[in-house]
Amino acid sequence: MSDWISLAAGQSYPAGTLYIVATPIGNVADLSLRALHVLGLADAIACEDTRNTGQLLSRVGLQRPLVAVHEHNEREAAGRIVQRLAAGERIAYVSDAGTPGISDPGARLVEAARAAGLPVVPLPGPSAAVAALSVAGEMLDTGAGRFTFVGFLPSKAKARAEAIATLAALDHAWVLYEAPHRIAETLAALAAGLPAARRLLIGRELTKLFEETPVMTVAEAPAWLAAEATRAKGEFVLVVEGAAGTAHIGAPDAEAQRVLALLLAELPAKRAAKLAAAITGADTDALYKLALAQRGGD
Ligand code: SAM
Repeated sequence: MSDWISLAAGQSYPAGTLYIVATPIGNVADLSLRALHVLGLADAIACEDTRNTGQLLSRVGLQRPLVAVHEHNEREAAGRIVQRLAAGERIAYVSDAGTPGISDPGARLVEAARAAGLPVVPLPGPSAAVAALSVAGEMLDTGAGRFTFVGFLPSKAKARAEAIATLAALDHAWVLYEAPHRIAETLAALAAGLPAARRLLIGRELTKLFEETPVMTVAEAPAWLAAEATRAKGEFVLVVEGAAGTAHIGAPDAEAQRVLALLLAELPAKRAAKLAAAITGADTDALYKLALAQRGGD
């Protein structure tokens, strides 16, 4: 193996700079070589939760002074960090997991450093949204590769249903984050608010031991979650197909879906879709897409 320190250190990391460092979303080995190098170089590491970051550092054999910067003290803490940066220190900022600022704190600190004329440098790395999108396949073809990052939907049922109704019209894919205690409600709300054949990628426990990324229709998702009691435990990122994925071909109705499911149990996806289309009059392409989605969710 080549000397990783020289790979990561072959770039200058000026003093008086705020480094925004992405950290793993599960598997500690996803910490990049540059992230490791800069965390080791930092005079202090500002973080969302000192215990959490302390654990990460001890796993990679680093010890650095930690400063808590979370959503409740970000403004005041940012002021103190800006003073330290102005005095020539290197400060790294990490959130609990993934990329800071993406459904995580970090924005105020970045603004404060920039307003003080201090350099802010990103060290890219893991993010649950990008990881899920990278395996979303053709869902990204709808809307010519565009996607909308939504983050967490509103927690109140009415506001959540309204948000889904608005998002339903997007021609391209959209990405949601969801916590374990709300995943069942959110999957039910998606099933209720979107056409039954709309495809959904469920990124569960990415990079962890029980990682899975099944693709299914929104109509199937609540039953998938309920099928195993442990499923609701875990972290979830969802990629919902854009309206262009199914709208123009007309979603197969419940009868067509039932016939397809029966045939799929016995036949390859293409053959099952063709026969289901002949029997029910539904669109072959739509049925084939559905068949592939169901196979992916097996
Ligand atoms: N900043 C993070 C990022 O870049 O992905 C996101 C932080 S947000 C507070 C936490 C949410 O991200 C979780 O509730 C979950 O929806 C998603 N998430 C984080 N880690 C994940 C994982 N390993 N698998 C699936 N989703 C994950």
